[in-house]
Formats: sequence, C-alpha cells, structure tokens
Amino acid sequence: MGGKKGEASYPPPKQVKDCPECGTALQKCLIQQNYAFVMCPNDKCAYPFNQRENIQNLVYVDDGEVIDTATQRLSKG
Ligand SMILES: [Zn+2]
Repeated sequence: MGGKKGEASYPPPKQVKDCPECGTALQKCLIQQNYAFVMCPNDKCAYPFNQRENIQNLVYVDDGEVIDTATQRLSKG
C-alpha cells in the first residue's frame, strides 16, 4: 500500500482574464447554479457579444466561488 496522495493532478480551474477588447477585468455572471458567463463589465465594451465567433465563455463555477461572486455583487451596490 504505497499510494501517493495529496498532490492535485487535475489542472487548475479556468481563471477569468482581462477583456481582450478593453483590458477591463472580466466578470463572471451567473446564469445557472454552477455556470457563469464570462463578460466584460465595461458599459462601453460589448465583449463578448461583439465577437464574430461563438466563443466559449461559459465556465463552471463551484459552490465556494458562487458564494464569492454573490458576495461581490451584494457589496457592489
Ligand atoms: Zn471589454
């Protein structure tokens, strides 16, 4: 019995990057319990809706991050 454990072998979750159009940090907008759509919060920028190609901006969000996002939204107003 010499199994290795403790090392995470799966890749890290996708990180939200900056908007390729305007450089604003992209935000995740929850559309379902565990799925968020990544979009640019900048009013003057329509990313990703201005993309010709249908890009994959749907990301899986785990419960911890859902709470995080909800908290951010609450504290924003
Ligand atoms: Zn943008």
